[in-house]
Amino acid sequence: MLKTAAGLERIGTESAFEVLARAKALEDQGRSIINLGIGQPDFQTAEHIVEAAVKALRDGHHGYTPAGGLPVLRRAVSADIEKRLGLAVDPDRVLVVPGGKVTMFFAVLMFGEPGAEIIYPNPGFPIYESIIAFSGATPVPLPLKEENAFAFSAEDLLSRITPRTRLIILNSPANPTGGVTPKEEVDKLVAGLAAHPDIALLSDEIYGQMLYDGRRHASLLDYPQIREQVILLDGWSKTYAMTGWRLGYGIWPAALIEKVTRLAINCHSCVNAPTQFAGIAALEGPQDAVGTMVAAFDERRRFVHKTLNEIPGISCIEPAGAFYAFPNISGTGVDAKSLEVRLLEEAGVATIAGTSFGKHGEGYLRISYANSLENIAEALQRIRNFLA
Ligand code: PLP
Repeated sequence: MLKTAAGLERIGTESAFEVLARAKALEDQGRSIINLGIGQPDFQTAEHIVEAAVKALRDGHHGYTPAGGLPVLRRAVSADIEKRLGLAVDPDRVLVVPGGKVTMFFAVLMFGEPGAEIIYPNPGFPIYESIIAFSGATPVPLPLKEENAFAFSAEDLLSRITPRTRLIILNSPANPTGGVTPKEEVDKLVAGLAAHPDIALLSDEIYGQMLYDGRRHASLLDYPQIREQVILLDGWSKTYAMTGWRLGYGIWPAALIEKVTRLAINCHSCVNAPTQFAGIAALEGPQDAVGTMVAAFDERRRFVHKTLNEIPGISCIEPAGAFYAFPNISGTGVDAKSLEVRLLEEAGVATIAGTSFGKHGEGYLRISYANSLENIAEALQRIRNFLA
């Protein structure tokens, strides 16, 4: 019997990948499945981005790059943040990594160990809880409630801080709820954190450009008082429809950048070179593909919100960001996991149970509207028929 490390018994997973595999298996058997489960844009990466990667390969960029990323890419990230958020960021603080998840993994590895506590949103991206547990730290869930439109309450969060708290994870716009934390709540949190200059904050802002109804993104980097505590997680996966390229970045406090670069060298050395050239083209090239995609998501968001509320047993608040709706299904009398399984197996619609995002997700289902309006309409009709 092989003796694996204890941490492996504690690591979880992201069930979106399991649902995707099951949906694919059913399709292979000839079943018609509409996938509202997976969290990736149903758009292709823009042509000029693809071309930049092809050109890089043809130009001979086949070797290692600096561990933190190509200097020109780190400068492009810094310029993009300046342009979008009006914030000056030293390119030396940017660590380019293979996907947004890697910043998360490194941040938790850096602060998580037995005896430490890490606060994270629940329901929230499942990998937060999984890697906190893996690290040996105690995961401290911060419940996100429908009555707050799934935004965190600063008061709730501050009340969970103890002398053992090392890291707080926040995510807005949020997966799986589509919730967006209002700036006033972030202001309150930042005021409360004045008493805790030794706690780090991981701000997952990967959906920061997917906001609706004229909302503006409130980045945690925008608060000079906590600047040396914030690790900002962002990347190309969602904004530029580049999930399969594996490209993301973190903006790190000055005191941590050298340490996290060592983690990168120990782990992956660097991101593959052509993808980094694609990343430069994405940030510096035309942005119309982003606008077109977000406008399409917005139209679907309105449709999904309206249509879900017409289905008996389901109610749904209007999502404010990202590309997810998080309907309340408690009126159906079925628990979230059973409904997910039955919708997939019996109605041919892939969704994700709210409980896949933590225990506070019971009574909800995540619907990704990264699919065509036509498919979404058909899927919602199938759900309605199933429930009837
Ligand atoms: N953070 C959140 C909230 C996400 O939803 C995701 C992907 O679904 C990620 C991070 C990871 O993104 P990437 O695919 O770039 O690793």
